[in-house]
Amino acid sequence: MRDWISNYIAAQHKAIDSIPHDEVEKLVKKVKKVWEEDRHIFAIGNGGNAANSSHFATDLGKGSSDALGKRFRVLTLGDNLSWLTAIGNDYHFDDVFLRPLQNYANPGDLVIATSVSGNSPNLVKAVEWAKGHGVQTVALVGAKKGKLAELADQSAGCTRCPLAAGRTQVVFGVGDPEADLMFVGEAPGRDEDLQGEPFVGRSGRLLDRLLAEELGIDRSAVYIANVVKCRPPDNRDPRPDEIAACRPYLDAQVALIAPKVVVTLGNFATKLLLGTDRGITAVRGASYPVGDVEFVPTFHPAAALRGGGVVLAQMRADFVRAKRLIGAAA
Ligand code: SF4
Repeated sequence: MRDWISNYIAAQHKAIDSIPHDEVEKLVKKVKKVWEEDRHIFAIGNGGNAANSSHFATDLGKGSSDALGKRFRVLTLGDNLSWLTAIGNDYHFDDVFLRPLQNYANPGDLVIATSVSGNSPNLVKAVEWAKGHGVQTVALVGAKKGKLAELADQSAGCTRCPLAAGRTQVVFGVGDPEADLMFVGEAPGRDEDLQGEPFVGRSGRLLDRLLAEELGIDRSAVYIANVVKCRPPDNRDPRPDEIAACRPYLDAQVALIAPKVVVTLGNFATKLLLGTDRGITAVRGASYPVGDVEFVPTFHPAAALRGGGVVLAQMRADFVRAKRLIGAAA
């Protein structure tokens, strides 16, 4: 018996937090059987809603690749684009899981698909192909959809504003629904639009770095969202009508997560959530209580990437401010 299989399923279970324990036991048995039969296992999961589980799966794959050889392949949008790119650059978003399975999976192999909301067309397409080709499947799907997941499902088909026309997918938000600390940025960029998760490009890497260096945590411990959930064309600024149309999603996220502290990243989030016309340079350096939430405005990480050391130092100070506020509210 290999403990990593139990650990893997247990971590997936924790990430989606909704599969009954007896179901988990059955899943573990099924995965172990396939492994002991010397078959291949493919773990697939999007960023976005399934980010926690897919990131874990990726870590497992990387961390244990020597021990597992090539029989356990992890495929997530966020971390395996290099593998996908090696297969060919002409894949479409809907095919990102399907194509590797078509290339590598054989009858009797196993696909483990993880989705918090169960509403991932690219996963569904891959699982349907597997079922039709003798490949076994295990779907780790949230059975009791949390309110956040329900809201994410609703937003996935949203056409409330013109940004719907140009998006690859809605980038709803990611992280711990129980988080004390929430970050709100501006809008998805190209990487986010492709991967379905906020802050995954250069700005995201800086955000991750500041979280690690100033708060000693990673992004799975916070919740991250944007003012608008769909990518504006050519990364232009979101327009007032688009921000107004999308606002109910953000308000609902803040209400459901009920964080102690919200860090607003840049002008758009700051002006919207603080209800001010003043720019970020004028308002940062302090915190602002609104109801039960303490708002800490700071620069968008993209500004630090452009502006260098001074802006970055000010962001660090703002992150430390947020950390103190969380502690004070605890
Ligand atoms: S940006 Fe918001 S309001 Fe506009 S289509 Fe996307 S989810 Fe809907």
